[in-house]
Amino acid sequence: MSRFWSTGVKNLQPYVPGEQPKGTNLIKLNTNENPYGPSPKVLQALQLEAKETLRLYPDPNAEALKGAIAEYFQLKIEQVFLGNGSDEVLAHVFQGLLKHEHPILFPDITYNFYPSYCKLYNIECQEIPLTHSFEINIDNYRRKNGGIIFPNPNALTGKFLSLDIIKRLLDNNKNSVIVIDEAYVDFGGETAIKLIRDFPNLLIVQTFSKSRSLAGLRVGFAVGNENLIEALERVKNSFNPYTLDRMAIKAAVAALQDHAYFNHTRQQIISTREFLAAQLQDLEFEVIPSKANFLLVRHPFLNAPDLCQQLRQTGIIVRYFPQDRIEQFLRISIGTNQDCNLLIKVLTDILERR
Ligand SMILES: *Cc1c(COP(=O)(O)O)cnc(C)c1O
Repeated sequence: MSRFWSTGVKNLQPYVPGEQPKGTNLIKLNTNENPYGPSPKVLQALQLEAKETLRLYPDPNAEALKGAIAEYFQLKIEQVFLGNGSDEVLAHVFQGLLKHEHPILFPDITYNFYPSYCKLYNIECQEIPLTHSFEINIDNYRRKNGGIIFPNPNALTGKFLSLDIIKRLLDNNKNSVIVIDEAYVDFGGETAIKLIRDFPNLLIVQTFSKSRSLAGLRVGFAVGNENLIEALERVKNSFNPYTLDRMAIKAAVAALQDHAYFNHTRQQIISTREFLAAQLQDLEFEVIPSKANFLLVRHPFLNAPDLCQQLRQTGIIVRYFPQDRIEQFLRISIGTNQDCNLLIKVLTDILERR
């Protein structure tokens, strides 16, 4: 702390990202990155864009990418908002759409960035507990609120709410914005994008980081009614008009257009997830059913932080959250089949040594 800090900085609660180790011979199953590289067409687009025109600012409205997203989801360009990763999109959402008289609502176990934004923008929030089986019960969200936000599938748990239930939530909550963070939707969920026609208060946030394997490029977007998007544009253009650089715009368009690669890699991740879940259950792990690219698991005899440590020593990094209700769980990102086989082998050894 220093007397030079602006007021309020002392009380911030910064998000703590998963470890990004320097070494390369570790198996990284801790931050839900895609184990496969981006589409070869993305790499080609990046090479083509690495040229003299980098001296020029990018299109501040990134029309090429907005247009590609609008076409992909059959929307208007005015219904698309872009940001430097969906974390930045979410920051603008919190500032531009979720600060009102009543507190916003989100689950007690969810993406840990939401409380950080609340502190940053001084937004009151109420955490709504998941049920015993880690489900979101939408009846618990029937109260005055300044907005509702949750990931679907939910972060940390991987549990998915059907569109029927989302629709019921929207029917019961017309006076504030509902934000659905669909970072993991391509791994077996169903997007609520088609509901934005009927609900002017619905905003969907997605990212290129997970299913399109571009966490390093930083591209996220939101889609919703033009009025919601306009608020986000006003915030963004008061902050940084050039959120996406020239390389990112070109590469993201290429990623969106390579349907074959996208479908192949996400199907592979889904099938590895099901395989890994079954293998872990054979080792007596409790596995929360997941529609995301990770599994939340608990072993009846192994202490989670110790196990996390033991895995680290063998070169496998998974994520442990020292947090109420999940302090005996580990979150394991889905790697390649080879990564997961090695994980199972190491866990089998650990269990045999017990
Ligand atoms: C990974 C993740 C994000 C952030 O993604 P970026 O686009 O890389 O910033 C947002 N929300 C949830 C729930 C995530 O898991």
